[in-house]
Amino acid sequence: MANTEDFFKKITSHAKEYGFIYQSSELYDGLSAVYDYGPNGVELKNNIKNYWWKAMTQMHENIVGLDSAVFMHPKIWKASGHVDAFNDPLIDNKDSKKRYRADVLIEDYLAKIEEKINKEIVKAKKRFGDNFNQEQFLATSDRVKGYQAQIENVHSRFAELMNNNDLKGLRDLIIELEIACPISGTRNWTDVRQFNLMFATKMGSVSDDSDTIYLRPETAQGIFVNYLNVQKTNRMKIPFGIAQIGKAFRNEIVARQFIFRMREFEQMEMEFFCRPGTEMQWFEYWKQERLNWHLALGIPKEKYRYHDHEKLAHYANAATDIEFEFPFGFKELEGIHSRTDFDLKRHQEFSGKKIQYFDSEINESYTPYCVETSIGLDRTFLAVFSYAYNEETLEDGSVRTVMKLPKMLAPYRCAVLPLVGKDGLPEIAHGIVNDLRLSYRVHYEEKDTIGKRYRRHDAIGTPFCITVDNETPQDNCVTIRERDTMQQERVAIENIREYIAKH
Ligand code: ATP
Repeated sequence: MANTEDFFKKITSHAKEYGFIYQSSELYDGLSAVYDYGPNGVELKNNIKNYWWKAMTQMHENIVGLDSAVFMHPKIWKASGHVDAFNDPLIDNKDSKKRYRADVLIEDYLAKIEEKINKEIVKAKKRFGDNFNQEQFLATSDRVKGYQAQIENVHSRFAELMNNNDLKGLRDLIIELEIACPISGTRNWTDVRQFNLMFATKMGSVSDDSDTIYLRPETAQGIFVNYLNVQKTNRMKIPFGIAQIGKAFRNEIVARQFIFRMREFEQMEMEFFCRPGTEMQWFEYWKQERLNWHLALGIPKEKYRYHDHEKLAHYANAATDIEFEFPFGFKELEGIHSRTDFDLKRHQEFSGKKIQYFDSEINESYTPYCVETSIGLDRTFLAVFSYAYNEETLEDGSVRTVMKLPKMLAPYRCAVLPLVGKDGLPEIAHGIVNDLRLSYRVHYEEKDTIGKRYRRHDAIGTPFCITVDNETPQDNCVTIRERDTMQQERVAIENIREYIAKH
């Protein structure tokens, strides 16, 4: 726990110091679990967005985009089930007066046992050295097998309680497992209650119940209620998808995890409509396709894993998460759900309008089935950002902080740095900037020593620093320093573009 807190402190202060992320309303002491993106943050965020948008809409002929409004007819949230069932089970510790999600307390308990297994692996690795065989060890160590049995037992009971909405059972399990409040250390718990996560507000000037509308808790419903519009106006043939990026709002209770869990956040969602009976095949396709998208960032595949759901939401017939190993453990980054025809059927029922597709290939009308891919933009930001954050001890003993961001996502692709602000060097540097800026975001900087400028760009994650020095006017060459290796290469000005493209 202390480690997690240290990590968040470090990441939060780096994000602030280098203009990535600020606490919202900081001037007024902040608004909890709401954040603003600074100049470098918005660039990184936009780059992630574009990467997703292009991968979805440009690389798939049968996926089109949408930008629906945050406000929607309140009946939509009745139809989707959010008014009645978008709840978290909450429990309070009577001594610390802190509120927790009951399911998260149990998940944390399970994560701790998993941590114990990991420790056993580390110990065994040390003991057996090169001869270590992890699979064999996991299958034979009595201690590990004991932990695994414990996890399985608690997990299956927990899944059943969640499935049955058994709030008393959840509390009993928390008591039985002797889970204590991390703040007070006591086990003095209240009953478990349900709490709806939607923010409500009023529309128009009359405030009675009929004017209550909600800030959308997911972007997906905007897609479902536009299914007919998009299918008809763009003459889409099944199977096809609709992609959308936009804000979502949830009144989260456990909101102490920086941008991992926010009250206002952004989602990138895609609903893929298909013929009933083909949904499992598309579910498998999107599971793989989405993992490939993550891996193309160059982050090692060990950092990702699938987590299949045992508790299926009321609308789903298959669901998996792509989890990422954050410094505080494996956590959900993206959800892939086979949502059946639940949403379209419900909107058909609640709106009284027919939502059907005539499939000329089989000469049949039906309500399409749907596979959803849903990923948090901010959570992806945190995954990339936390993975990129490195502190390296250099040969001279000093520590450099370097953001090893995927190059295509970095706020600046390169920085152009005249060694000194005179002798014609700034003019040459500006010329290089002008030449590159149509293709890349480029930063020009002449203040401070070159060493300090390098460090600043390491901390932002700029992949290439291009230095114009006193020799440049004679030999028309610059020095390009690569962020990760710190290696420098002399390159002719006319070859800079080629160098960047190649690297
Ligand atoms: P969790 O179990 O972490 O609360 P969820 O299962 O409720 O997440 P979904 O409803 O499947 O999440 O939302 C899809 C994605 O949106 C998640 O995988 C996550 O990346 C992102 N997301 C959900 N809630 C938040 C939040 N409060 N802050 C930031 N991102 C979020």
